[in-house]
Order: sequence, then structure tokens, then C-alpha cells
Amino acid sequence: MKKIQMVDLEGQYAPIKDEVNSSIQEVIDTAAFINGPKVKAFQANLEAYLNVKYVIPCANGTDALQIAMMGLGLKPGDEVITADFTFAATVEVIALLGLTPVLVDVDPEYFNIDIDAIKKAITPKTKAIVPVHLFGQCANMDAIMEIAKAHNLFVIEDNAQAIGATYTSLNASKAKAGTIGHVASTSFFPSKNLGCYGDGGAIFTNDDDLAHTIRGIVNHGMYERYHHDVVGVNSRLDSIQAAVLDAKLPHLDNYNKARQSAARKYNLAFKNHPNIETPKAGNGCKTICDNCDCHVFHQYTLKIKNADRDGLVAHLNAKGIPCGVYYPIPLHKQKAYQDERYNDADFQVTNQLSKEVISLPMHTELDDDQIEFITASVLSFLT
Ligand SMILES: *Cc1c(COP(=O)(O)O)cnc(C)c1O
Repeated sequence: MKKIQMVDLEGQYAPIKDEVNSSIQEVIDTAAFINGPKVKAFQANLEAYLNVKYVIPCANGTDALQIAMMGLGLKPGDEVITADFTFAATVEVIALLGLTPVLVDVDPEYFNIDIDAIKKAITPKTKAIVPVHLFGQCANMDAIMEIAKAHNLFVIEDNAQAIGATYTSLNASKAKAGTIGHVASTSFFPSKNLGCYGDGGAIFTNDDDLAHTIRGIVNHGMYERYHHDVVGVNSRLDSIQAAVLDAKLPHLDNYNKARQSAARKYNLAFKNHPNIETPKAGNGCKTICDNCDCHVFHQYTLKIKNADRDGLVAHLNAKGIPCGVYYPIPLHKQKAYQDERYNDADFQVTNQLSKEVISLPMHTELDDDQIEFITASVLSFLT
């Protein structure tokens, strides 16, 4: 059996080696390292894939979030609601910009931002909601867009984990994750569903004015050479990373299908086990779909009920199976983000999840032998 990895980037590279290498070689041959034709080509190809008007590449997913918020003109003191159960980047940029992060609890079944908790957190200072499509599954965008409309709020989708997922609205219309809110961010960190070979990110929007504003912000606030109209940043996707991404983009749907297929095999092996709750894929709108594209399994995350989760982690590691706990400490308990307004009792789901979740190896190259070994090892611990 091949060595089991959390993410197998060598295995993924092997069959596309020629495509990737020649794409990178083109950049080197033309020495167009910054803002070269590869960046423009990838941008246009991603716009077409997502069916979104504008993709603005940038240096990483954290920058993408920050730049999206800068582009919306959010000001110090504005409150931004986001999930307590996510990677810290989401709340970090809110705080860095002097905005006030307002963390709220998540849904126990889907791990995404809880709709009632959003409603309760809205004040006259609230300016935006940042849903995170956690672990590859779209948040409940129907409900979030409805709240945003009623309260005149911006919606910034943190789509670092769900690129390629398709959200189906209650009215049956379909849209790619990251194209539903006013603006979205994504990350091309190597382990993400569409990863480059270094750092990369992008911002998506359908709004002409916002796209124009953001294009200036990523380039030192310049709209005309050496005229700096706003305070900007320097955040670029370099051409070599764009070359990798442009070679990988045509494979994204197959990569996501491979993840979904691995998830189905895991689900089957763990079905009806009293100590295991398998992840639900339900479009966030709770119409549970067995075989749909609302979940692209950036992570495959189980809840371990009434059993020793940390013991299971140690047991798997001892068998050479890597696994992860995303996320072991809720953000409202992190030193950097403590706020006297938070009441621990309002974060019951996140608090519980941080004790129960375990993410198993999930990538595009998992084979049946590996999945069988992993599931047997989990089951032998829980018996
Ligand atoms: C990975 C990730 C980010 C940050 O992306 P980087 O490219 O590493 O800066 C932001 N939000 C979420 C939810 C992520 O998973």
C-alpha cells in the first residue's frame, strides 16, 4: 500500500507533469514573471469556469479576504459577523482593518454559520457577513442573502475551501460557490481543492465598480500609473503559480469528484456506527442530497460521539495514518480575539465540535486499499 498522506501532491502531479512543466516553462522562456499572459489566461479561464464576471488574482487567500473588505469600504468600528468555527484568517483580517469581528456559533450538522445566530448578532453597526464554506460545503446562502438584503449588509464569501462546489438555491437555480455574495475570496494554497505550488489567491465579484476598485487596491491603489487614489497593497499572483493553476483548472471537476467518491466510501464504512457521525451534505438549505455537488470535501470530517477522540487521533497516528483536528480551539477562546461581549454559552456547538471532530486523509489520489486500511483502523479503535 502507498504511504497514506493527509494530502498527496506528488501523486496528483505525476499524471499532469507534462502539462504543468510546459506551462511553467513558457513563463520562464518569456520571462513574464509578474502579471504576464499566464495570469491573464488563468483569470479568464477561471471566470468562465465559475461563470462570474470578474476574477482578480492576488497573493493568497488571506489577502483576498482583506482586499475584499477594503474594496467594500468598510470602516473602523463597522461590525462584521463571521463563524466561530473556522480558520483564523477570516477573523484576523477583520481585526487588522480595525473592524469589529462578531463571532457567532455554527450549525451542528453542517458546521457552517448558524442562521439564527446571525440574526441575533445584527446591530445598527453591522455592515457585513462573512460566511465560510467550511470543509468544502456551501453555507446556507439563500438565508444569508435574504438577511443581508433585509438589513442592507454586504456578504463576503470565504471560499478558500469550496472552489468548484455548486450551490442549488431553494428555487432550484444553481451557482458556483463564491459567486453568490457581493464578493468572495479564495486561496490556492497547495492543499486547497485547486492548489498551486506556493501561495496564491483570488477575489471574485459580479460588480463592475467593486472589481475596478479592487483591481486598484491590489496594485498600490493605482488606477493610472503613479497616481495613487486610495491606500492599496501589493498583492499579486505570480506568473509561475498562474501557470500551475491554469494547467490544473481543467482537472478541478475530476479532482472534486475523486474527493466525493472517497467521501462516499468513508460514509459507507462508518454507516450507522453508534460513535460516529458522518458529514452531512445538504446544500446548507437542509435538503439532503446524496450525490450532488454542494460539498467538495476539502476535508472529510467526522464527529466522534461519546468516545475518546484524542485517543483515536493517537491510534491512527501510531498506524501511520495522518489525521487532523480542524479546529481544536474555537476562535472566541483565542487570546487574540477575546471580547467581553462574548458569552461562552452562545457557542455551544463550536465548543462541542472542537472536542468531537476529526478529519481523515482526503485528497484526489486516495485508493481503495488506503481507504479500507483507514476505515478498519478507525473501527478497530471504536469497536
Ligand atoms: C486557507 C484558508 C484561508 C487563507 O488562505 P491562505 O492562502 O493560506 O492565506 C482563509 N480562510 C479559510 C477558511 C481557509 O481555509
